[in-house]
Amino acid sequence: MTTTTIERTRHAALIGGESVDPGMTFDDVDPATGEVIAEVARCGPPEIDAAVRAARGAQPAWAERSAADRGGVLRRIADAIRAAAEELARLETLDTGKPLAQARADVAVAARYFDFYAGTIEAFYGDTVPLGSEFFVVIEREPHGVTGHIIPWNYPAQMVGRTIAPALATGNCCVLKPAEEAQLTPLRIGWLALEAGLPAGAFNVVTGFGEEAGAALSSHPGIDHLSFTGSTEVGRLIGKAAAENIVPVTVELGGKSANIVLADADLDRAVPVITRSIIQNAGQTCSAGARLLVEQSLHERIRDEVAERFRGLTVGPGLDDPDLGPLISARQRDRVAALVDTGRSEATLVTGGAAPDGAGLTGGFFFEPTLFDDVPPEATIAREEIFGPVLVMTPFSDVDEAAELADGTDYGLVAGIWTRDVSAAHRLARRVRAGQVFVNGYGAGGGIELPFGGWKNSGHGREKGYEALHSYTRTKAIAISL
Ligand code: ADP
Ligand code: MG
Repeated sequence: MTTTTIERTRHAALIGGESVDPGMTFDDVDPATGEVIAEVARCGPPEIDAAVRAARGAQPAWAERSAADRGGVLRRIADAIRAAAEELARLETLDTGKPLAQARADVAVAARYFDFYAGTIEAFYGDTVPLGSEFFVVIEREPHGVTGHIIPWNYPAQMVGRTIAPALATGNCCVLKPAEEAQLTPLRIGWLALEAGLPAGAFNVVTGFGEEAGAALSSHPGIDHLSFTGSTEVGRLIGKAAAENIVPVTVELGGKSANIVLADADLDRAVPVITRSIIQNAGQTCSAGARLLVEQSLHERIRDEVAERFRGLTVGPGLDDPDLGPLISARQRDRVAALVDTGRSEATLVTGGAAPDGAGLTGGFFFEPTLFDDVPPEATIAREEIFGPVLVMTPFSDVDEAAELADGTDYGLVAGIWTRDVSAAHRLARRVRAGQVFVNGYGAGGGIELPFGGWKNSGHGREKGYEALHSYTRTKAIAISL
């Protein structure tokens, strides 16, 4: 394959700086049309093994380079991503279905991750420990070695930046397994990184099925750290594989995050952000604002305003840049539709609830923005992650009830609190078990600087922010008796 034309072609894996074709492929589908857009290498244990060896071979020399030197390479990768931004954004839209404006933003964020970790690694110092005049003690932070990364299909370009940039910055070498639904931008960024001067083998992209390539990667004895983002179900398998090999693991799993609107909230500010927090990427975001908890006095007003916004949203192929693109697959669309059907008997459907029947939408996996009201907290649609453009609304009567509702699912990823009362916001923020809490907003700074990760079934370990530099290293205390 060439490194420039990736659409509607056959894509090999990227292992040790080389294109590796295992001889078997699987189809990559455009979710907007249901048509096959590419054939992708179906790798298995031999390719995973080759990639782990390549990473192992490259790692010592990469780790020995100075932080400034590694950072310089990361900056060139960021520049290469920006130079290819439009191509990458179109590829991302074609592969995932997301609106082009979103894909452009995602590619910009992917580049920024490489810049961010290029900068922070230069200021990532170790410590000394004052054991007294007879000792000199330093604590160095060392890379794990070879890191394995299994990512989902919802934000492939961003995920490469988020998980690979800090791993490389700290001196690890990486094997990445993209999701079977979306591999094109991870592969392309892999080749761009090579062209930008990353040593061969430092970043390998091995495509394939979860049960084949993914399982081979997570159980490979040559992997020193695992990072997984995906479903809770598979997260458990990854955790078991990590336990078997005694390696550290970061698992970022699902969410059922709530926006909590107190009676004194500024609704003109809140409603557009709340809407966007569930509509972004058609609700296929682990940190989506999937629940809306509203104080009684605002109940009807918010319901009507959100419903009106939902009805005004455009749904269509991502390349036309609508508000919502299709869902990733027929399987995902059917799953969302089934949960929505369950919801009809549990709560009140306000708007949406079906696939749109507009012209040109029949081949793709589209679903209308959907709002449910008066959703009891024990309802399936209030507890399960739907991963579609479905917002479930529940009124509450006081802040204690709000805190209980917010924390009342098995997940704990993000929360949004809307109020003009600083003390109420602070108190509530402390009560909610979530990795990120936003007050009068949802998301901040493109998501790069803030540590991110879950409580409960949303997982453990942290990526993003300075925190990821800790996740991708381990300490070594060196004590010298003087
Ligand atoms: P979803 O159900 O939304 O596709 P998954 O958790 O199944 O989410 O997928 C997330 C990632 O995990 C993908 O890259 C997928 O290929 C991978 N995966 C799926 N099953 C396994 C498995 N048994 N072992 C390792 N990785 C897996
Ligand atoms: Mg695809």
